[in-house]
Amino acid sequence: MGKPKKSKTAERGIKKESWIGLREKIKNAIQEALFPWAFVCLDCGKELGDEDRTHSLCPECRKNLPYITGTRCRYCGEPIEQKYDVCKHCQTARPYFDKAYAPFAYEGVIKKIILSYKDGNANYLYKFIAKFITDYYNALDLRCDAVCYVPSSKAKILRRGFEHNKKVTEIISKDTRNQLIYPLKVVKNMKDQTRKNRSQRLEDIKGVFAPAKGFDRMFTWGKTILLIDDVVTTGATAGECARVLKEELGAATVIVLALARA
Ligand SMILES: [Zn+2]
Ligand SMILES: [Zn+2]
Repeated sequence: MGKPKKSKTAERGIKKESWIGLREKIKNAIQEALFPWAFVCLDCGKELGDEDRTHSLCPECRKNLPYITGTRCRYCGEPIEQKYDVCKHCQTARPYFDKAYAPFAYEGVIKKIILSYKDGNANYLYKFIAKFITDYYNALDLRCDAVCYVPSSKAKILRRGFEHNKKVTEIISKDTRNQLIYPLKVVKNMKDQTRKNRSQRLEDIKGVFAPAKGFDRMFTWGKTILLIDDVVTTGATAGECARVLKEELGAATVIVLALARA
């Protein structure tokens, strides 16, 4: 590639971009060669056409995705009866985050994907999860200043060999053009949350997260922060992250975006 002339700044910009685009294409081609999953449907295993590869699902299986439809709480996003606007939990105590969205219910192929990604040796699924979250971000027409994620404990990162929300958020950051920031860390081990009720979860989650060492509050102060998680259950975990982001790091607004709601 020849050196562009000094006067043609615009052209130089285009050239630079197309070079990045080419590099990206090469990277993607290598990744697809390494991960043949992109060629078969994640759910039924049927071979995929070119146009279906970005979502890794065939058109039939995509139709059966467990989309959440109907009325949801305006604050936490929990599905509620149509006559209400706010769920019973948010009527008594508003969560620290301002909004929480998730396109899917935590069931069927979505549950399978999340579990295989996190704990089933299928960590390449981060691309698929990021794609759906990004699509939903665009559909909601959200505007944020920066993006971060619910961090995992060191023990979990070691066990899995990777940090699941981090890998997903790296892609989301790029595709939504939100700066990726690392404001949070886990400072207390979280007990197993699966079989606990709401008030136990809320109690257990207190003090689990803290501002990450060396994080510059300039990146959160007065800003609208997008917080990514895989599944929102009671909203206790996302709520505690939002509390730290707001109370300790000065964020103005925290919007939670997850793949699924349990
Ligand atoms: Zn299929
Ligand atoms: Zn609610």
